[in-house]
Amino acid sequence: MLNVVFFTFNAFDENTYLIVNDKKQCWIVDPGMYHPEEVQEMVDYINSKQLQPQAIINTHAHLDHIFGVQAMMDKYNIGFGLHEKEKSVLQMGAASAVMFGFDFKEAPVPTFFIKEGEPLKLGDDTLDVWFTPGHSPGSISFYYAPGNWVISGDVLFSGSVGRTDLPGGSFETLVNSIRTHLFTLPGNTQVLSGHGPATHIDQEKKYNPFLK
Ligand SMILES: [Zn+2]
Repeated sequence: MLNVVFFTFNAFDENTYLIVNDKKQCWIVDPGMYHPEEVQEMVDYINSKQLQPQAIINTHAHLDHIFGVQAMMDKYNIGFGLHEKEKSVLQMGAASAVMFGFDFKEAPVPTFFIKEGEPLKLGDDTLDVWFTPGHSPGSISFYYAPGNWVISGDVLFSGSVGRTDLPGGSFETLVNSIRTHLFTLPGNTQVLSGHGPATHIDQEKKYNPFLK
């Protein structure tokens, strides 16, 4: 069984998730730790629970979701994966960081790519990967049916959807991703977003003003 722990980091209030199995192996999803204290908070948590990070997996490569990638790669000697279509976004990361006034030298280099239809394996557990572009060209969502949750990155939020005005974004594509993927999930599936509180599929089908 996989369990999820969440943290909120950096100036963008980005949600970072840890996905943990029964053997205390874990994935780090969208590590957004920017300040050294935030990196330390994550390391302290991992130490306190005696977790063994296996890899970093990202829903997409916007700056606020990658601040902590390099620190985790260095600290735990683990790989970093995301969808191949995020490569350009990742490379723009360092440049946009400077524009926003952040101290961020180089974009981390992915060591593997994640594809729809190729589930990720953590020990005996499997995480489904869905290609859900629109907020960014290679956005993916991670679905775990036995736990009834999906990590949607910045595709779907409680009462909102991801912005589509950044390079490679498209509102039409985003809505299509939500309708053909996320909205086919059971209504009681918990949606764990890249920002803000968790929600449920039913709730968003009924009340999300962007998806009426
Ligand atoms: Zn984003």
